[in-house]
Amino acid sequence: MSENSTIEWTDATWNPVRGCTKVSPGCTHCYAETFAERFRGVKGHPFEQGFDLRLVPEKISAPLSWRKPRRIFVNSMSDLFHDQVPDDFIAEVANVMVQANWHTYQILTKRSARMSELLRTRLNFAAEERHIWWGVSVEDRRYGLPRIEDLRSAPAFTRFLSVEPLLEDLGAVNLSKIHWVIVGGESGYGARPMERKWVVSIRKQCRDHGVPFFFKQWGGTRKSLAGRLLDGRTYDEMPATLSLAQNLV
Ligand code: SF4
Repeated sequence: MSENSTIEWTDATWNPVRGCTKVSPGCTHCYAETFAERFRGVKGHPFEQGFDLRLVPEKISAPLSWRKPRRIFVNSMSDLFHDQVPDDFIAEVANVMVQANWHTYQILTKRSARMSELLRTRLNFAAEERHIWWGVSVEDRRYGLPRIEDLRSAPAFTRFLSVEPLLEDLGAVNLSKIHWVIVGGESGYGARPMERKWVVSIRKQCRDHGVPFFFKQWGGTRKSLAGRLLDGRTYDEMPATLSLAQNLV
C-alpha cells in the first residue's frame, strides 16, 4: 500500500494484490477489509472496489525503485496465496523479490498449503533466498497449528510465525525449523482479549528453542493505552538473517 508502514515489525508495505476473502477466525476483524471497504465506490481511490480481490500489475516492480534497503511486508492488504491469484503472477512477485535483493521481504499467509506447495515447485528459485522470509499466521490451535506444519515442510531459509491475533492458549508449539515468532493481540472495535499466560507460554517456548521473540502489542479497543510492554520491557527480537542480508548491500 505504501512505502512506509506503522506496523511495528516492518518498514514498508508493498501490495501487488489488493483484497481478500476470509478463511479462519483470525480474519473476523480483518483490518485490511475495514480499511478497504471505507473507500468502496470512491472514484480513483486504490480501494474503489473495496476489498474485492484485484491484481495490481502496475505495482509489481515498485521495490526495484526503492533504493534504500527496507524490510517490506508483502501484501499487507491481501494474501499472496489466495486462490484467485494465478501462479504466474505470484512467480512474477517472487522474481522482483529475488532481483531487488537489497531489501528484506516478509511474506505472510493463511493459505499455507498453497505457499508450501509452490515453494517446492514454481517458487523454488526464491525459497532459500536469505532476504526473503516466509511466514504463516497462527491465531488458534485448530487453524493455526496445521499452518506451521505446512511451513516447516517447505524449503525456506527463514520461516516465521505471526501469532496474531492470539485467540487462545496454543499449548505446546513445535518450533523446530522456525526462525522468528511475532505475538500480538487483536485491536480495534470488538477486539477479542488476549491473556497474559498465553503470551508468556510462547515466550518461554521461544526461549527454550532459541527462537527470536517479537511482542507486537496487547491490543484491545485502544491499543495505544495497552501498549507493548511485557513484564516491563519490549521484545523486538528479529531473525539473525536480517543483519546478514543488510550487510550484503
Ligand atoms: S487472510 Fe488476511 S487479508 Fe485475507 S481476510 Fe484474512 S486477515 Fe484479511
